[in-house]
Amino acid sequence: MAMRAGLSFHRAVLCAVFGLVSWALAAQGARVPTVSLTEGPFYKAGSPERADLAPTGTPGRLVTISGTVYDQSSRPVPGAWLDFWQADGAGSYDASGFRFRGHLFAHSSGRYRLSTVIPGEYPGRTPHIHVKLRAPGGNVLTTQIFFPGNARNDTDPVFDRSLVVTMSPDGASGRIDFVIPARRL
Ligand code: FE
Repeated sequence: MAMRAGLSFHRAVLCAVFGLVSWALAAQGARVPTVSLTEGPFYKAGSPERADLAPTGTPGRLVTISGTVYDQSSRPVPGAWLDFWQADGAGSYDASGFRFRGHLFAHSSGRYRLSTVIPGEYPGRTPHIHVKLRAPGGNVLTTQIFFPGNARNDTDPVFDRSLVVTMSPDGASGRIDFVIPARRL
């Protein structure tokens, strides 16, 4: 009985400490970094710098994805590098060239804006766009973003609810922010 009481007390102290730490982090505007997800097999380094990935006349639904890149102290990260790659509207990756591959840099406000198409499904995966992010002088964070309302979101083992883009009512634009470590650890 004494041991159980001791454990309960111990747990209560731990909870109190955890709560205080969480409160202190929140008070400083601290943010949890964006969830990292697998790179997958289709990444190619050396993409061209561009904010529009969709060639003229390409199949698929055009969409603009935008948001802000923050550090863990909720400060925007000007000049953050974002390298995107995705399947085209028919679900195919370009293995020989750089179609639907491109990188850009966040503006002075930390904002970024990408024009592309909603990627098609390919076997085993729900539609997604891959992205690598890095603050100037920081570590690379690799993740993926997803779209709401896809039936396959729930069965894709990589899918993460925190990385679903918020779409505008007309479906023409989506918004998602990222949180990345600001400095190399
Ligand atoms: Fe993929």
